[in-house]
Amino acid sequence: MPRRRTLQGKSDLAAAVMEQDRPEDMAETMVGSLGPIGRLLTSIGVPKGSAVAGTTNPFTGNVKLNQGLLDQYSPEQAQDVLAHELTHSQQVKDKSYLQRILTLFDHEADEKEAYQVSENRAMKRRDIPLKSESR
Ligand SMILES: [Zn+2]
Repeated sequence: MPRRRTLQGKSDLAAAVMEQDRPEDMAETMVGSLGPIGRLLTSIGVPKGSAVAGTTNPFTGNVKLNQGLLDQYSPEQAQDVLAHELTHSQQVKDKSYLQRILTLFDHEADEKEAYQVSENRAMKRRDIPLKSESR
């Protein structure tokens, strides 16, 4: 499956890192860029001035990244966004179609899990300098 074809900058970098960190998830997931219409649609209900960094299709598990926004993030933050969306992608793939529909109405548990993934990544990054300092 062609992935990363439309990715550039920090989104492409994040995809390359995720191919190392989560090769199976990346192999199964189409990661593309969020176009102007997608950006418009995902901005509905989002506070003015902020934007959605990434989104996962609740039926296909395909991930779209807001590349313009991700380029403003640090490389690590961009990776966290993709890690978060990859977790959603796996959640979708683990579900039956009925469960996917039901998740549209209640996705709090899935959100918690996905945020935990990016939190753990951030925590791990903070651990590395701390450990080397204590040596
Ligand atoms: Zn999420």
